[in-house]
Amino acid sequence: MTTRRELEHCYDALTALPEGWSSWDDLMRITLEEARKAEAIDEVPVGAILVAPDGTIVAKAYNRTIIDHDPTAHAEILALRTAGKHLQNYRTEELVLVVTLEPCLMCSGALVHARIRGVVYGAPDHKTGAVDSQLNSFELPLHNHAIWHRAGVLQEECSTMLSAFFKKRRKQIKAEKESRKSRSSS
Ligand SMILES: [Zn+2]
Repeated sequence: MTTRRELEHCYDALTALPEGWSSWDDLMRITLEEARKAEAIDEVPVGAILVAPDGTIVAKAYNRTIIDHDPTAHAEILALRTAGKHLQNYRTEELVLVVTLEPCLMCSGALVHARIRGVVYGAPDHKTGAVDSQLNSFELPLHNHAIWHRAGVLQEECSTMLSAFFKKRRKQIKAEKESRKSRSSS
């Protein structure tokens, strides 16, 4: 029988920080840089990186759905594609995903298919988050692969970036509507 101590040891190994890194915050800071690249091209600012146990960042990505005309071009999916090519394997079992926003249902499904080891995210997504907020998709009994996860790493920074983006976008939409209205009435 597995003892509690052995189980705790397994869990510690599973959730361990990649080598050479002293905190998840440091990895999230790199992920935030990716999110900023999305913001710079008017995409929803979400960044994702995949990290190997030896500390190597195997993939970095940011949202590109609008620019690529691709509803699947979420940061997580793009990072998985890069890592798969790099490792020459569609399964990336050793890797941990660090992402600024709680993954959606599509990305959670892809992460299960990739057999990812763990997910660390920053901001919760109250509308479409499929890890904790709307659904605990990593715990569904239909999956035979369990993913460890941790929420709320640099949550403040990740949330602020997203809310500032949406605020700016609402303003732009309002300004466009008003200029259209004034053009049609003149
Ligand atoms: Zn997604």
